Amino acid sequence: MERQAQVIVVGGGPAGMMAAGIAAYKGAEVLLLEKNEQLGKKLLITGKGRCNLTNDCQIETIVENFPETGSFLYSALYTLSNYQLRNFFAQLGVPTKVERGNRVFPQSDSAGDIVEALEVYLKDNGVEIKLETAIDEILLEANEVRGVKDREGNCYLADRVVFTPGGASYPSTGSSGDGYEMLKAAGHTIKSIKPSLVPLKAKEDWVTKLEGLALKNIEAGLYLNEEEIKSEFGELLFTDSGVSGPIVLTLSRDVVSRLGTGKIQLKIDLKPALNEEKLDNRLQRDFKKYSRKQFKNSLGDLLPSKLIPVIVDLVSIPADKKVNQITVRERKELLQLLKGLKVTIIGTEGLRQAIVTKGGVEIDEINPKTMESKLISGLYLAGEIIDIDGYTGGFNLQAAFSTGYLAGLNAIN
Ligand code: FAD
Repeated sequence: MERQAQVIVVGGGPAGMMAAGIAAYKGAEVLLLEKNEQLGKKLLITGKGRCNLTNDCQIETIVENFPETGSFLYSALYTLSNYQLRNFFAQLGVPTKVERGNRVFPQSDSAGDIVEALEVYLKDNGVEIKLETAIDEILLEANEVRGVKDREGNCYLADRVVFTPGGASYPSTGSSGDGYEMLKAAGHTIKSIKPSLVPLKAKEDWVTKLEGLALKNIEAGLYLNEEEIKSEFGELLFTDSGVSGPIVLTLSRDVVSRLGTGKIQLKIDLKPALNEEKLDNRLQRDFKKYSRKQFKNSLGDLLPSKLIPVIVDLVSIPADKKVNQITVRERKELLQLLKGLKVTIIGTEGLRQAIVTKGGVEIDEINPKTMESKLISGLYLAGEIIDIDGYTGGFNLQAAFSTGYLAGLNAIN
């Protein structure tokens, strides 16, 4: 079978839907090809189903949240800024709100509303959508794109192709890294693929005993050879092999690049709101209240119950010691532990559990003003397939929407 269109978009994620929608809105006849049985499968699970679609901050701040390759995004972000993105969704009937850390969510708290709005946008602008179509070849003639071919051998012909198949993280959503091989075959350089924003694996056995425990309002510092790199305040979750949760995912981006370069540790301050003096006063109060109890039964007011046996094991105070016999030195040792619970990081989980992919198409090979490949004329790249990955906070989706928009706009020129 052979099909012809003015613009073909490969991949129905945020980048692809935005590209297809704007190209069609500007009058192009657009065919959107998606491997899955539905559009936006990953988008639906973003922000734990609430979709943190962008961040309410200056463009400069968005750029800074992509530490290595952020400046590549300037044109895309100035063409579709975070404010314009919010406006875009408001006009489609999905108003947004700002939460802690300037994170922007739909007012309805539903990622489904974002996907639905995009589907309506595509439909209203006449985009033809073909689902369950897995592309596995980019058709070229010399250094010009001619279309794409699917796994069944069907050809879709166009001299403008916007290629947005995503990265290799969370492959269950469709982004299984298909794009890299196709782009390599077309002559592009793919910077090595690694998981980013990913749960971390810990060395200590006690960590696994805490599986499922979420600690809110704690502070975790990331250390390399005892030197602090960065710290984050918020929620941390213990897993079956280490730690995860919002602050760990954010810190993980700085872990990935440092693995193998030295001793990596997280130091968790379980009581960041109390300085050492205040925490010591608090311990003395609790110890007075529970003076006749055993040490292991004295921490219930201070810590979640699951954490108590672990803390009791980690300090040298015998678990059955009477609280009124705990020495000042022992109390200080407990205090130090509560202010700096150390977790040694020995690796990260794999791409299967990563929020984004680090690496991808070398940015030097893409024109940042148009998103067109510098190697293949008529081929436009957008979204996570490119070597751009940012911190958590809505930055990755903003980048996908903005690069998709810029690619879609230019694909019709
Ligand atoms: P994708 O969303 O991955 O879309 C690519 C599409 O291409 C998929 O539909 C895929 O099926 C299709 N495709 C792949 N290969 C082919 C092929 N061969 N042929 C045809 N189609 C193909 N970012 C944020 O900013 N905020 C968040 O709240 C947030 N939460 C997240 C939560 C989770 C659990 C995960 C995994 C990620 C989250 N992200 C978040 C990251 C964000 O979802 C991605 O950066 C973004 O979806 C990338 O968009 P994309 O369009 O480039 O790729």
